[in-house]
Amino acid sequence: MARYTGPVCRLCRRERTKLYLKGSKCDSGRCPIEKRPFPPGEHGRDRTRQGSEYLIQLREKQKARRMYGVLEKQFRNMFEEASRQDGITGENLLRMLELRLDNMVFRAGWAVSRSQARQFVRHGFVNVNGRKVTIPSYRVRRGDKVSLIERARSLAVIEEISRVNQRSVPGWLESTPGAFEVEVANVPLRAQIDTDVREQLIVELYSK
Ligand code: SF4
Repeated sequence: MARYTGPVCRLCRRERTKLYLKGSKCDSGRCPIEKRPFPPGEHGRDRTRQGSEYLIQLREKQKARRMYGVLEKQFRNMFEEASRQDGITGENLLRMLELRLDNMVFRAGWAVSRSQARQFVRHGFVNVNGRKVTIPSYRVRRGDKVSLIERARSLAVIEEISRVNQRSVPGWLESTPGAFEVEVANVPLRAQIDTDVREQLIVELYSK
């Protein structure tokens, strides 16, 4: 499946905000956006923060897409589905993004970034209700139990992540510390999603 393979820190600089795509580097002094908080490229410094209404909406959409690592077509399809559901479209969209399996692995604290979580899913390290699922975009539902397979739990990289992980598991997931299993207790409410995205701008963009 197609995916972005370029330097991810450029994406943060393009959006002028931390998208937390590199794990521990993001919270360290090595984060490039700390020193160069302007878009990359020769004229990056010259780009003003203000833009047209369309540009602001576009950037918000790109930010959300890049945070969750979703390509344009897939993101657009998710929006269409979100708009057909009951409730507020923007919140439906964010909820669907949160319920992706790769995001679940990230939220559970088993990976330092969503891209690493995606890799773990693809490598077959993740079970849903006891069955292996290798599709990062797989959408979990309320009551599903997501776990790491036994072999993965003892991998040095995962042991190290669990040891240094400081993120807390969100309230819509039920977890037992050290158990490498989380249950989707509820679908997340907007207030439980800490993603810094103004979803209404995305709705306005796609509704033009
Ligand atoms: Fe973004 Fe993390 Fe790179 Fe900083 S270190 S620019 S937050 S991906």
